[in-house]
Amino acid sequence: MSALAKPTDAASIRGLQRQPPLPTPFLAPFMVLLGLVCCAVFGAAVGCAHLAVSPRWNQAALQQVTPAGWSAADGLPSRAEIVAGQLVIHADFPLAEQHRIVRELESLRTDVSQQLGLPISDEPVHLYLFENKDRYDTFAARQFPGFPMRRAFFVETDTTLSVFAVWQDRIAEDLRHETTHGYVHAVAPAIPLWLDEGVAEFFELPRSQQGVHAAHIAHLSGRLLEGTWRPDIDRMEALASAGELSQDHYAEAWCWTHWLLCTTPQRQRLLQDYLADVRRDVQAAPLSARLRYAEGSATDLSATLRAHLETLAPPDDQ
Ligand SMILES: [Zn+2]
Repeated sequence: MSALAKPTDAASIRGLQRQPPLPTPFLAPFMVLLGLVCCAVFGAAVGCAHLAVSPRWNQAALQQVTPAGWSAADGLPSRAEIVAGQLVIHADFPLAEQHRIVRELESLRTDVSQQLGLPISDEPVHLYLFENKDRYDTFAARQFPGFPMRRAFFVETDTTLSVFAVWQDRIAEDLRHETTHGYVHAVAPAIPLWLDEGVAEFFELPRSQQGVHAAHIAHLSGRLLEGTWRPDIDRMEALASAGELSQDHYAEAWCWTHWLLCTTPQRQRLLQDYLADVRRDVQAAPLSARLRYAEGSATDLSATLRAHLETLAPPDDQ
């Protein structure tokens, strides 16, 4: 890893909105090795949620993480290896170098860099792709016992960036999401939790959708109609633990990110400048303060985001 400050030692898991959160994160010394884990749940519907680190994780296995990462002896895929830019893809099935998903993930590196104004890193992001769900489950259960079974997850340690995934119908979406975490964490590991997920949700979409996340739009529009949700960037910035994240948070994180990236060049530049500052100083002035200054103190940011959402929602949803 780079010499930059490491992010939280929490783990985050996508797709758990129907499950109760675990207790307060368990921050044992061994967890300094573990940066972040983000997963897609099997059979998840819309959006995702986070879960705190489980004390039931295999501490011994985590302590054994080395600069070389895991190996085939641990049950990892090793039949095919493809290097695609920053990605080192390990698969346990024949995977063509020119596979659409491989090329798409490779070009995602440039998209993430350009849209967020982040430099390109050469730090490898390892993708371990399992063709067989049972083998994937066996590996995950052995390395991360107690960790809920998910379609994919991202793990950051002091020395490695790794994505583990099972090849299934939603693999492209899952890999775009998790690989985005890898690209971002290679250069900006201190990115705030909520923004980290907002960015990953933005880039998990096929390029043709230009960041317009129909599922999140429908979810937030429904919440607005119910009167059960109000955008609040201060609340997002206050999120300190992955265990606090709900589907509402994921959807709102995406919505702020889309508003920042897709409305005006000035807002995109503000986000880029913020990320550049966060790379240098984890205590950089928060995004909310910068937005209030840039938009004007009289601007109601919550109302602005609601108006943005309404421009994206189909008429039937308004
Ligand atoms: Zn994520």
